[in-house]
Amino acid sequence: MLKGKSAVVTGSTSGIGLGIARALAAEGASIMLNGFGNPAAIETLRESLAHEFGVTVLFNGADLSKGEHCAALIRDAETRLGGCDILINNAGIQYVAPVEEFPVERWDAVIALNLSASFHTIRTALPGMKTKGWGRIVNMASVHGLCASVNKIAYISAKHGIVGMTKAMALETAGLGITCNAICPGWVKTPLVEAQILARATAHGVSEDQAMRDMLSERQPSKTFTTTEQIGGLAVFLCSSAADNMTGTALPIDGGWMAL
Ligand code: NAD
Repeated sequence: MLKGKSAVVTGSTSGIGLGIARALAAEGASIMLNGFGNPAAIETLRESLAHEFGVTVLFNGADLSKGEHCAALIRDAETRLGGCDILINNAGIQYVAPVEEFPVERWDAVIALNLSASFHTIRTALPGMKTKGWGRIVNMASVHGLCASVNKIAYISAKHGIVGMTKAMALETAGLGITCNAICPGWVKTPLVEAQILARATAHGVSEDQAMRDMLSERQPSKTFTTTEQIGGLAVFLCSSAADNMTGTALPIDGGWMAL
């Protein structure tokens, strides 16, 4: 379905980004991976994706907390991959603390990566999409782009900002063959959430299994994690022709969290 399309997936060396990269590659898109990690492990991942799906897979390790690196990532995709038809703004970090104790440098880091990076990748990728008359921008928001929880001020501010950015981009690109939508997952068991499970187990003096069950039963009525494959499937749908007239949406995939 996506043969001939080139996709940049930020933060795709792990978790949700990797799930989306796999799903897009399975549909025939060529992929630019991005993110941190052990260089040898990333090279193995790159090779195995290319081999499994028979598509071109490249890697660029840009640190997207820096605006100029975001722009360079897109330009690299345009040079080496043939473009950036599909832009998945996924890279993100979390920091948990009450607002009075929230380190200012952590605020800056979360806003830089979880919000500003998407501005920089979008502003750089948009001219190429306009020239081709086709583009898909998918921003990874969160249920925390639609509602709040305690002790996550920077993350929640950034994710609400991403939902707003999604709407603004949808209006600026309407009618040009370009769509911009946000995905809003609830709990997904990735390294980002595993750190929160461990912190909760330690704070409450319970096992990690118990901490996990408690987290799910508090906010996610299905009591099961959304999987990275399910989010990959939603991203593929947003890139399909069935979604040609869907833009500016923020789609929960959260086991009912937003229905509470
Ligand atoms: P993860 O920690 O597994 O993956 C994060 C990815 O971002 C990794 O590839 C990492 O190397 C990369 N990254 C980190 N800092 C970077 C930087 N400065 N520059 C470039 N890449 C960087 O986390 P995840 O759970 O897969 O999260 C992915 C996205 O999904 C994030 O935006 C997160 O906020 C969002 N999200 C996650 C959940 C969840 O429950 N896991 C829920 C809602 C939203």
